[in-house]
Formats: sequence, C-alpha cells, structure tokens
Amino acid sequence: MDRQQEFVLRTVEERDIRFIRLWFTDVLGMLKSVAIAPAELESAFAEGIGFDGSAIEGFTRVYEADMIAKPDPTTFQVLPWRGEQQGTARMFCDILTPDGEPSLADSRNVLKRALARASDKGFTFYTHPEVEFYLFNPPESDTGPLVPVDRGGYFDHVPRGSTHDFRRAAITMLESMGISVEFSHHEAGPGQNEIDLRYADALTTADNLMTFRTVVKEVALEQGVYASFMPKPMADQPGSGMHTHMSLFEGDRNAFHEPSSQYELSKVARQFIAGLLHHAAEITAVTNQYVNSYKRLWGGAEAPSFVSWGHNNRSALVRVPMYKPGKGNSSRIEYRGIDSAVNPYLAFAVLLAAGLKGVEEGYELPDETADDVWELTNTERRALGITPLPADLAEAIAIMERSELVAETLGEHVFDYVLRNKREEWEAYRAQVTPYELERFLPLL
Ligand code: GLU
Ligand code: MG
Ligand code: MG
Repeated sequence: MDRQQEFVLRTVEERDIRFIRLWFTDVLGMLKSVAIAPAELESAFAEGIGFDGSAIEGFTRVYEADMIAKPDPTTFQVLPWRGEQQGTARMFCDILTPDGEPSLADSRNVLKRALARASDKGFTFYTHPEVEFYLFNPPESDTGPLVPVDRGGYFDHVPRGSTHDFRRAAITMLESMGISVEFSHHEAGPGQNEIDLRYADALTTADNLMTFRTVVKEVALEQGVYASFMPKPMADQPGSGMHTHMSLFEGDRNAFHEPSSQYELSKVARQFIAGLLHHAAEITAVTNQYVNSYKRLWGGAEAPSFVSWGHNNRSALVRVPMYKPGKGNSSRIEYRGIDSAVNPYLAFAVLLAAGLKGVEEGYELPDETADDVWELTNTERRALGITPLPADLAEAIAIMERSELVAETLGEHVFDYVLRNKREEWEAYRAQVTPYELERFLPLL
C-alpha cells in the first residue's frame, strides 16, 4: 500500500466516514457512482471493485461485461453536502478490464493517453475553464416553460438576488473540496451564471469539472432552484459555453510565451492555434456533442460560428486574451467553441491533440481576424479563408467520421461508440415534428 492509500484509510477512520463513493465517467460525460463501505477500501485499492460495464453508456459489449473500477487515492475528498457526521467521501477511478489492462472505454484513460503523448514531447497541458450555466425556478415538467431565477445581465449586481447566494454557496463547497475558483459573475442571460476554475493540469481540471457539475446541482437542490448546463436552453437568450483557456508548459516555463514576438506568443503557441483551427470542424462533435449544442453555436450571442482567431476578438473561435506584460506564465489561448455539456476528458484530449498536431507538423498560422466575423458577408469570409463550424450534429458527425486525428485520440472503441450514439441522437431528433413547425406551417398548408 502506498502513502496516498494509507492517508485515505487513516482519514476515513479519523473522520468517521461511513461511505466511500467511487466515481467514474461514461463516454457521454455522465458521472457514475458506486458506494463502498470503509472495510472494502483495502481491497478496492489492491484489486478494484467489479461492475457490469454493459450497463454503462459506451463501456462494453454484453459478452465482455465485467469491468473493474480502481480508485485513485490522490482524488480523495469528503463530500461537504453529505454532512460532517458519518459522512461520505469520493475518489475518481480508473477503469480496468478483468486482466488489469486500462479499459479502452474509459474517458479518463483517453485523456491520460493524450497527456502522455504531450509529455513525451516535454509538455504539460494546463486548462482553465469558464463554466456558464443557468438557474431556473424548478420547472413544472420536463418540457418547460423555463423561468430564470432573475432578470440580471452581464456582471449585474442583482440586489437581494438569489444568484449571489448561490455562487457563494457553490464556491465555498468547491473550495472545501480543494477546487479553487478564480472568478464568478452573473452572465449575460437572465439567471445565467459563470464560475471560472483556476488553472490546473488538464486531468485535474477534467476531474474538477465533474465535481463542479455535481456541486452546482447539489447547491441548486438545497436552494430550491434548478441548475442546467444545457448549451442553449432558451432560443432567444445566450447559450452556455465553456470557454477553455489552454497553455503548454515545459517544466516551469510557459512554452506559449515569447516576450519579443507579437502578443508575446511563442512559435509553439502559434502552431498550436493553427492546429486548433485546422482541426476545429473535426473535433466539434466532441466539444459540442448534442443536437442542442448547434443551437448555441449558430444562435449568435457571442458564441463562435466560424473558424478564425484574433487578439481580444470575441467573434473568434480562438481568442488570445489580453496579455499582461511581464506575466509570461499567464500566456494562454482561449477556445470559445466548447460548451458546458461536454465530456471534459474527451474534449480536452481532442483539443490537445489538434493543437499538438499543429506543433508537430509546423502548421502555419493564418492571419488573425480583426473584424467581427459575424458582420462579414459569405463572400468576404470566403476571401479571408474563414470557414464555418459544422451547422448541426449531422454535419459534425460526418466530418468527425473521416478524421484520423479524432479516431487516433479517442481510440477505436470510443470513436465508434460516439459516432453510433450521435447518429442515433440525430435520427431521433430528425424524426420530430416540432411545435415550431406546427405553429408556422399548419395554418398555411
Ligand atoms: N455565452 C457565450 C457563449 O455561449 C459567451 C459569453 C462570454 O463571452 O463569456 O459562448
Ligand atoms: Mg462568459
Ligand atoms: Mg471567455
């Protein structure tokens, strides 16, 4: 038993923990959880806990259903919402096959493999997500109507607003679980909030995001409101993006920083951006995985629809935020396409792979776009070489299907599963006759 594992056993005893929840993530990014008694911990560390993988989205085919969840002791945290007495703790798990090999269906493992490829080249990948979400009054039914908890807008200080209390409670809970929060504010939509997690290596950030979504849902339940990470819950209000800031470090040095060049961006950073742009359309079915995601991407309100980059340009897919001279280690780029309903492990893996490809192949960075790309005509965009992101999930899947980069990064199993699952989602969606169609066409036709 290693020191981390001993620490967990000791803490469980000292703090009188009653249940330990083993957490892992299915291929769509949903959190799965199984509780074990403290007496089972030693064997969970040694051998893992068996479960039926065929019952989990994207895990196995029925004839190879046995899977093993092995807890990662470095992720041990007590769950604050379960109370102090006889509490509950959690650990994230790695998923193994019965022979002890990493499962090819495990998203966490997909990201670990992508990070290992970066570390072979001497790079550590850091991410910092800005998570947007809505707070609604609890809906009467699954189909709405949605009533946001307030009428506030961007950075609004809503007097006696419930979202302050909400953000305060959520942040306190996150921090008690070791997750640092950098900023939080009211976002542009009524009832819309943003909480930005502090920079960390991408595996930690992905784990933190899984915890974050759980914490937000828990606090919402406590406060009698309903939290949603749906990319575009209301047609006439902004969607919820998860802009992700990224950088590569070589040891302690930010490899994106070069004081003497434009925007202090190094060659590595420029090639990384070029990689993101070049492969953006291919990775969109992963960074924007639901039919609803495309309502956000094409619904205006500061969500990007075209592949371009710019310095402080909010219409760009990749933005280079304002840099602070002399603060080289904060050099970073922001990918604005991704939404809050992702599987963060898979999304970070494909973003990293796309950027690294640019570095490996020495891609040339196209000119930045100074204009508001939404204001340009199609002809102007074409002349500037600015292409659109996929228009909908069907197009995103068709592009991903042909992507060697995504197939390699996700591995065959996850790649095939995502494609199959998303085709089914598209077909089910396409078969719907919507209220919009009835309203618009029934009186006419
Ligand atoms: N809510 C916008 C989006 O969907 C982003 C707003 C912002 O710039 O923070 O991406
Ligand atoms: Mg925002
Ligand atoms: Mg942003």
